Amino acid sequence: MTAPTSARSVTVRAPAKINLVLGVGPVRDDGYHPLDTVYQAISLYDDITVSTAAGWSVGVEPIGDVDVSEVPLDETNIVVRAGVLLTEHHGIARRASIGISKGIPVAGGMAGGSADAAATLVALDRLWDLRTSDEDLLAIAAELGSDVPFALLGGTAHGTGRGELVESVGDAGTWWWVVVPNATGMSTPAVYAAFDDHGGGGSDSAAVLAALAGTDLDALTAGVRNDLQSVALELRADLRLTESDLVGAGARAALLSGSGPTFLGLVEDQDSAHEVREALLDAGHPGVLVATGPVAGAHVVQYA
Ligand code: ATP
Repeated sequence: MTAPTSARSVTVRAPAKINLVLGVGPVRDDGYHPLDTVYQAISLYDDITVSTAAGWSVGVEPIGDVDVSEVPLDETNIVVRAGVLLTEHHGIARRASIGISKGIPVAGGMAGGSADAAATLVALDRLWDLRTSDEDLLAIAAELGSDVPFALLGGTAHGTGRGELVESVGDAGTWWWVVVPNATGMSTPAVYAAFDDHGGGGSDSAAVLAALAGTDLDALTAGVRNDLQSVALELRADLRLTESDLVGAGARAALLSGSGPTFLGLVEDQDSAHEVREALLDAGHPGVLVATGPVAGAHVVQYA
């Protein structure tokens, strides 16, 4: 899509991410953990709409049942940090109002804030015709957070470093996921602190990368792994029920998303996805969603 130079607002859509493998190594001197992860972008989205304004402002509205009460509306929102970094990079003094339509569960381990940051970078770049190079956008994204570069890229990607070094990987499959959010969010730093106390981890992505290369659902089922899952389940015993309900309903694997508390059920196809979703809803888990991956990274959906 070519940008009309007179656009007054730009809307960019960015996906949630899941980690098919989240291999976590021992904490580094800089406080971050080295990751060996395979990201997949799935079909839950936030839309970000930007328009030029005298000062930075943030608005948020939910899509569906998403609880947006914990989303900050001041300059601590990551979308404002994204806007400030982009303007500093270009040495310009512009400001914008930023509207968030949120379909990605908040504090769910699906990197909704990171998706918003990536979408804001792309939206402001197009609104102001800044023509930021992909390389510079990825570098600004990495400064904002470890998951932000992947939200720009989308698809399926191998992530290393602290997760900010991303490389697309071949993934010809359409994978079906049942997404079970949880009303009580989890703090990512708290989960990593518990991980540091317990040790363990060190999973690698080789089996999942091979499963994706061969579009092999059995191999993917056997390979998915999250090194934070056992500590998250110790911190939040209630999540064990989510895990066992998913398996009981017929999911091939039950995987914690990122640092939780969202759980993901890997299922065979669309029919099984809807059956498992119904079973989870009947078992008393509200807001269960069906999603597929991989999907595209942050992309423009409207110029107005
Ligand atoms: P991660 O796994 O990257 O830590 P998450 O998916 O668990 O993230 P997010 O939804 O990204 O969680 O939000 C984490 C916290 O960040 C929220 O509790 C909220 O206070 C703050 N936050 C700042 N900006 C945003 C935003 N645009 N959307 C959601 N939360 C935001």
